Parts: sequence; structure tokens; C-alpha cells
Amino acid sequence: MTKSYDAIIIGAGVIGASIAKEMAEAGYKTLSLDKLPEAGHGSTSGSCAIIRTYYSAFETCALAYEGWFYWKDWENYIGRENTEDMIQYFDTGCLVIKTDHNNHLKNVCDMMDQVSCPYEHIATEDIHKRFGGVNTERFDPAKRPDDDGFGQPTGGNVSGAVFFPRGGYVSDPKLAAQNAQSAAAALGAEFMFNAEVTEIRQSDNRVQGVTLSDGTQIDAPILINVAGPHSFVINKMAGVVDKMKMTTRALRHEVAHVPAPASLDYENNGVIYSDSDIHTYARPEVGNNILIGSEDPPCDPQEWIEDPDVFDDNITDQCKTLAMRLAQRLPDLGIPEQGRGLVALYDVSEDWMPIYDKSDLGGFYMAIGTSGNQFKNAPVVGKLMTHLIKTVEGGQDHDQHPVSFHLDNINKDISLDAFSRNREINQNSSFSVIG
Ligand SMILES: Cc1cc2nc3c(=O)[nH]c(=O)nc-3n(C[C@H](O)[C@H](O)[C@H](O)COP(=O)(O)OP(=O)(O)OC[C@H]3O[C@@H](n4cnc5c(N)ncnc54)[C@H](O)[C@@H]3O)c2cc1C
Repeated sequence: MTKSYDAIIIGAGVIGASIAKEMAEAGYKTLSLDKLPEAGHGSTSGSCAIIRTYYSAFETCALAYEGWFYWKDWENYIGRENTEDMIQYFDTGCLVIKTDHNNHLKNVCDMMDQVSCPYEHIATEDIHKRFGGVNTERFDPAKRPDDDGFGQPTGGNVSGAVFFPRGGYVSDPKLAAQNAQSAAAALGAEFMFNAEVTEIRQSDNRVQGVTLSDGTQIDAPILINVAGPHSFVINKMAGVVDKMKMTTRALRHEVAHVPAPASLDYENNGVIYSDSDIHTYARPEVGNNILIGSEDPPCDPQEWIEDPDVFDDNITDQCKTLAMRLAQRLPDLGIPEQGRGLVALYDVSEDWMPIYDKSDLGGFYMAIGTSGNQFKNAPVVGKLMTHLIKTVEGGQDHDQHPVSFHLDNINKDISLDAFSRNREINQNSSFSVIG
């Protein structure tokens, strides 16, 4: 007999598991399907798991600030009784360098004022107090290490920084997904692993259910695509791609892992660091290491992946390039001959903002296009998607009359058309991982 549920969630990463928790809490009988063996095993496991509040658009700032409250009080969000092994959230604060690329953070500070999120301007000569040993000379525009002038200052100093005390990072992103899974399961949500969705069955322009690779059929009137870098594959299966203005693609990215300079206790005193003058970001990692990610400068080739199941997961010289870029700021940073780091895929939309929306197929929803920057929003996206689904299934035409969503912690309303599959490209975006 074909099993049936109120809703099927494709993907049990940190966002999929958070949606399962919130849907179950709202009374839906859910089944989460993931083709991998455990929750958080997909792109979530490669995440730097940085929790920050600054973005290029009001709605993304509001979501991120709302999300901070859940990370800060994670045990309460998950429910202490639901799991023994909890993530740790380190509320280090975030230091962001002012550059031409981010308009010296003027727009960001305006948006922080709108959401009442605290911040502090830091003078150039005081940056070292937050990030020890740092050279504040300008190096922009970004170059590849074999370009002439790589590592040579380009004149003057950066114009200062902003410190956002509310922000930090999560110790173990995969465990965050597993914590959300435990919380969901405690509310009655079911999870099935090693279960690959290969067909989305529909009738009369309405979702009917899915078929798995082993032929198993499972029915549900609601289906949510939270498949991370596989999101476009699922959208193709559902036949909704041609009916969306925005699309998603998988982009390969490397994150470097290097020891901090001996003079810097980055593990205990380090902050999240974002610097669009040297086009890298960094965060502390255990063992006084630094995780270094790219802020996507135009000189770096972009590696779009046709098939997210087939990509090279070996690190390349890009890890070394990231370390060399950060060494422009931290001259004592050693550059390991053998780079260390990891490779993972972003799920990127045209304007690097997420798509949290319904589709033109009845009952088919998506939480996709998370563009290397939506880990932090997982708990809020769980709530937002549940509200969207409830409202649309209740009869509201979200395309004509956009659903509004209340952010409880910051007491603001946002209109969810900002995350529409049919929005115009958001020109305020950084068109990078910054969002
Ligand atoms: C290198 C890197 C660094 C990042 N750093 C940060 C950061 O610092 N801060 C931040 O906020 N965000 C960051 N992100 C982004 C963040 O990690 C992602 O947005 C988030 O983890 C996505 O979660 P998800 O649940 O949507 O997707 P995933 O974790 O990718 O989960 C999707 C799941 O769907 C499953 N699936 C796919 N196809 C099928 C199918 N056909 N059948 C069944 N299951 C299927 C997959 O197996 C997978 O487990 C980063 C991402 C990367 C890659």
C-alpha cells in the first residue's frame, strides 16, 4: 500500500530539518527524504556556519538578525530534552572592513538601524584591537597570485570597519542539522535516509507524491524542495523551471583551513572577519586555526557544476590563494605548502538571494538558492516556510497578494515576495556570498 503524509520534504540539511521541525510543530504529518545516510551530510556539512546580520537587502538583514536569537538560545529552540549532543554557538561578533565594494557599509548600517541591530564604527587605527597584527593597507583590486603586483599595496589604508557584536559561528554545522532532526522527530516528524527521489508524481497540476529510486511510491499533497545544490534537479523533475524567472545552479567552492599565526590567539579571541578589500572572510576554528573563504572577486574563475553528484572534491591551489590573500592582512600567517581545506557546493540564484516560495505546480514549494549564506537563517526559514505553506494552502494567492511574515524576536514584518521565484534581480545584492 502506498504510504501517505501531509507533506514530504526533500532534503534533510540544516534548512530541510528545520522546516521538518516547524511543520511538525504546526501539526503536519511530515516525511523527510534524503538520499544521503544522515541529516546534514550534504552541503550543510561543508558550511562555515557563520552567523552574521549584515546583508545587502533589508529583508535578508531582518531574517539574519531574527535568526541570531535562535542560535544564541539554541538549547531552548531545540528543546534540551530532545538531544544530548548539542552544537556550540560562539558569539564572537563580526568585524567588517569598509570598502568601496560595500559603500563603506553606509547602506548596511542604515538597515541595521531599521532592524535595531547594534553595531560600532571602528577607526582604521583601532582595527588591530579587534583583529590583532592586521595590516590595514589597501590591496584591491583582487588579483591571482601569479598576476603582477599580487600582495603589493595599492595605496592608502582601508577607511575603517564596523563591528557587529551580535554574530559568531556554530562549531559543527552537520550537528546543527541533526539537532533540528531530533527536535522534529520528537514532534512526530519522520525521516528516511538513503532514499533518493527520482520522480515527482502529479495530477491536475497538483503534486501527488514522489517515487524513489527503488520504486517505492509515497504520497503527499505538499512537497517541499530543500535539496540544496540539487534544487534545480528537483525543480526539473517537477517541471517548474520554465515557469520561474529566477533559477538556481550549483557552484563549486573551496574553504581553506590554516594555522593562525603563533602571535594571534584566534581560537579564543578571534572574531568573524569579512574584508572585501582582500576578498576573503575568516572565522576561528579549533586548534587555533583559521577557516578562510572567498568573497568571490571577479578575477577568480567560477566553476558551475552541471551534475551536483559529479564534481572534484579535492582541494586545489585555490586554498593556497585564499591563505595568501589573508596574509596581506596578517603578514605572519604561514602559507602551508600542502593546502588544507574542503570543497563543497553552493546553490546559487541569479542575485545570490534565496528563493522561499510556492511554485506554479499546486502543493510544490521551494526553499532553495541559499547561495553559500543561508545556514544562519535555517530556524527562521523553517517558520517562514510553514507560515507560507499554511497561508497558501488556506487559499491566499501569494503571487497576487504576497504573504507577510512576522519576525517575533525583532518585532518586524517582512513581505515574502522579496524571496519570490519571479522577482526582478535584486540590484542591491553584492552578487557574491555576502548576499
Ligand atoms: C563551503 C560553504 C560555506 C558556507 N558557509 C556559510 C556560512 O558561513 N554561513 C551561512 O549562513 N551559510 C553558509 N553556507 C550556506 C549554507 O551552508 C547552506 O545554505 C545550507 O547548509 C543549505 O542547507 P540545505 O538544508 O538547504 O541544503 P543541504 O545541506 O545541501 O541539504 C540538501 C539535501 O538534499 C538531499 N537531496 C538532494 N537531492 C535529493 C534527492 N533527489 N532525493 C533525496 N534527497 C536529495 C541531499 O542529499 C542533501 O542532504 C555555506 C555553504 C558552503 C557550501
